Amino acid sequence: MDYLSKLTHGLTQLYSKLMPVPCLLCGSCSQQWPLCDACITQLPQLGNACPRCATPSPITIMCGKCLNQPPEQDLSFSLFHYQDPIDRLIIALKYHDKIFLTKLFAHLMSEQLQQRQLPQLLIPIPLHHRRLKMRGYNQSSELAKALSQQLSISTDQHCLIRNKNTDPQASLPYDQRKRNMHGAFTLIQPSVPQHVALIDDVLTTGHTVNAAATLLRQAGAATIEVWTIGRTIRHD
Ligand SMILES: [Zn+2]
Ligand SMILES: [Zn+2]
Repeated sequence: MDYLSKLTHGLTQLYSKLMPVPCLLCGSCSQQWPLCDACITQLPQLGNACPRCATPSPITIMCGKCLNQPPEQDLSFSLFHYQDPIDRLIIALKYHDKIFLTKLFAHLMSEQLQQRQLPQLLIPIPLHHRRLKMRGYNQSSELAKALSQQLSISTDQHCLIRNKNTDPQASLPYDQRKRNMHGAFTLIQPSVPQHVALIDDVLTTGHTVNAAATLLRQAGAATIEVWTIGRTIRHD
């Protein structure tokens, strides 16, 4: 970074510290984050959940579904229930350029993740190149970058490629969503570290992360985690 860029960067940071920004949810002044402290406190934290699939439960034990039919990942972590206002914030992050939200989400995720043994590499779930071109950025990549900074873990933004421009999964029946993900990704490197985490915005049925995790397993990953901002509970 040259001197002028450094100065501009410094002034921008100073400005954002001094000038309050309105909270995205209630409009009141917020100094540091795009949400005010009161709104952050009220966000629907996931709390106790199945360690393998992040399904909420009264105590932290493996859920019946994972005991019967374990998913490909070994561990999952989600910060919030995917419900109001998390759904609105994730839509703002995904479709309305509110990329700065990833810094807040990464900060809140890191507070909880720091207590566990951390993975060696963060891999965001990629978008298909056509969708990436349309949207201009991948929210999961942006989240992985912010987490990488917070937790000092490397991130590989390019090792996983999305082959299919699948329809938004939510609009499809369960079986079709599952079929849709077959061959959805390619891993372009022959091996990955022992302990890796896949980064996505929301964990729903898990078909998407399962497809990616299968490839990481084949490439030598022994422990695969899935970290997301939100967890949707569906009863398909
Ligand atoms: Zn607020
Ligand atoms: Zn489970």
